[in-house]
Amino acid sequence: MANEQHISSQVSKIKKLRKQDIPAEQMLEGVFKGDKAYLAKAITLIESSNPEHFEKANSLIEQCLAKSNDSVRIGITGVPGVGKSSFIEVFGKTLTQLGKKVAVLAVDPTSTLSKGSILGDKTRMQGLSKDPNAFIRPSPSGESLGGVAQKTRESIILCEAAGYDIILVETVGVGQSETMVHSMVDFFLLLKLSGAGDELQGIKRGIMEMADAIAINKSDGGNLEKAKLAEVEFSRALHLYPPKENGWTPKVLRCSAVEQTGIVEIWEMIENFVYQGKKSGHFESNRKNQNKNWFIQTVDERLKQYFHQKQSFKKVQEEMLKAVEEHKISPFYAAKKLLENITGELK
Ligand code: GDP
Repeated sequence: MANEQHISSQVSKIKKLRKQDIPAEQMLEGVFKGDKAYLAKAITLIESSNPEHFEKANSLIEQCLAKSNDSVRIGITGVPGVGKSSFIEVFGKTLTQLGKKVAVLAVDPTSTLSKGSILGDKTRMQGLSKDPNAFIRPSPSGESLGGVAQKTRESIILCEAAGYDIILVETVGVGQSETMVHSMVDFFLLLKLSGAGDELQGIKRGIMEMADAIAINKSDGGNLEKAKLAEVEFSRALHLYPPKENGWTPKVLRCSAVEQTGIVEIWEMIENFVYQGKKSGHFESNRKNQNKNWFIQTVDERLKQYFHQKQSFKKVQEEMLKAVEEHKISPFYAAKKLLENITGELK
């Protein structure tokens, strides 16, 4: 009952705040206090494509960056139906019972392509969403996967500033979304199902390489024996990959979100990974490298945005396209001319 009250007061607070323009200091204070309504509002601000919100959002992130905590960022991927939301529900609950604060974010490129997203379903993770120590946010929408990913990265920083020490970033294996999520987390978990001996088929090679662990979900009931076989098969397959730079050997485990087995073991494995990584310095160096990549990708993304927002460039681009089509100019010379236009503007 106390929980229900907590939720309804949070929901009405979020609704009230949504309509208000909150001063930056107040928003920052709310986030630092770990107030979910302010955190939600702050994420909405950074997700906004309104150029007027840009400065405020940037300054918010800068100040949140200074308040780093001892977080662990975990990416979770798997095909629709593998049990991601069921897994996150019980995994998240296990973590909050251990005294952790858990934030669940999502990177869902389908939210950009179609209005209905694969991960956006409101009925998911109902238990966890009621937990006072959990915060769940659906995928931001955006023009591009790069845009969605950037907003998620910034949301991670806000959640950490709000005291969330475990950040779960969920994604479906569409396009490059897994690579994007891999580039923003410390640990990458691939959820799989056991099949009839065809486990390794249809799995993208790159995903196997990225995974720090594979958890075979639905390892329960009549599926148990097949899951055990899959475990052997995946372990064998992982041995064929070169060892990871950080010295970590990817693990294969079995779990059941329904029977809640193998869940604590997954957390223990991740704790072990973090312990080893911190001891060797790889944990920190991975984050540093990720930061450098974020910087480069952000510049890329902003340049594209800048370009697409400017009508004058579009006009030149159309002229060049026409000239290329009519063989009046080579594609390379046309690109050079268009870029000269842009650099002229930037001077
Ligand atoms: P998602 O699309 O990856 O988020 O998958 P869901 O969590 O929605 O799960 C898809 C279906 O699989 C649902 O009907 C779940 O009840 C079921 N499911 C999820 N985890 C398990 C599990 O560990 N064992 C069994 N038997 N079913 C599961």
